[in-house]
Amino acid sequence: CGIVGYVGGQQAEQVVVDGLARLEYRGYDSAGIALVVEGRLATAKKAGKLINLRKVLEEEPPPASTVGLGHTRWATHGAPNDVNAHPHVDCAGRVAVIHNGIIENFAQLRAELTERGHVFESETDTEVVAHLLEEEVGEHGLAEAMRRVCRRLEGAYTLVAVDAQDPDVVVGARRNSPLVVGKGVGENFLASDVAAFIEHTRDAIELGQDQVVELRREGVTVTDYDGRPAEVREYHVDWDVSA
Ligand code: GLU
Repeated sequence: CGIVGYVGGQQAEQVVVDGLARLEYRGYDSAGIALVVEGRLATAKKAGKLINLRKVLEEEPPPASTVGLGHTRWATHGAPNDVNAHPHVDCAGRVAVIHNGIIENFAQLRAELTERGHVFESETDTEVVAHLLEEEVGEHGLAEAMRRVCRRLEGAYTLVAVDAQDPDVVVGARRNSPLVVGKGVGENFLASDVAAFIEHTRDAIELGQDQVVELRREGVTVTDYDGRPAEVREYHVDWDVSA
């Protein structure tokens, strides 16, 4: 339901959780985050309100990190419990992914992946994306892996992923579901709604249909699913927000 991604010089945990709080008005049933920490992923997820996730993070503070993502879920496939909450992580613990929407052909993909030896933890449609990315990321890197995976997905989705082995990248994709980039200085943001990052930057890029965005500290690259540079709409958010 709500999506936030961050790469830059600030503490990702705080940027991401504060961003999720800005999206709370949309309604949700669980929340979670993933941070890239020295070649590994640190994840925390919890059913219920954001306060439940905040408590987990207070009790067991994650290590410092400058790359991360966060999600508030509105369950469509699988009960609203801790395991089905996003992010979802592949078996190798390398890729974490969050998702808004519905992957229509997930059952077929899940059967194929299970046959190839992947083990599923959740009942969500989303988890297939984590395992599909795992199969591609080693050879192609996260952005190209995302393009390859999106070519196989049917349905509506905003997807955002991080790679434990690349501490300077967040990748997003969208089809029939919104995703906006916030452009900062030495930092960049991704969100389902500009409200999530407006306290940091008002320079935004609206992604078009079937586009993949690669966010690094020093740049933003947008392509179509075949890797061709894509046209995007850059704009400045003029309206005021109240806290
Ligand atoms: N279909 C996914 C799930 O049930 C994503 C739901 C959402 O948009 O939050 O986990």
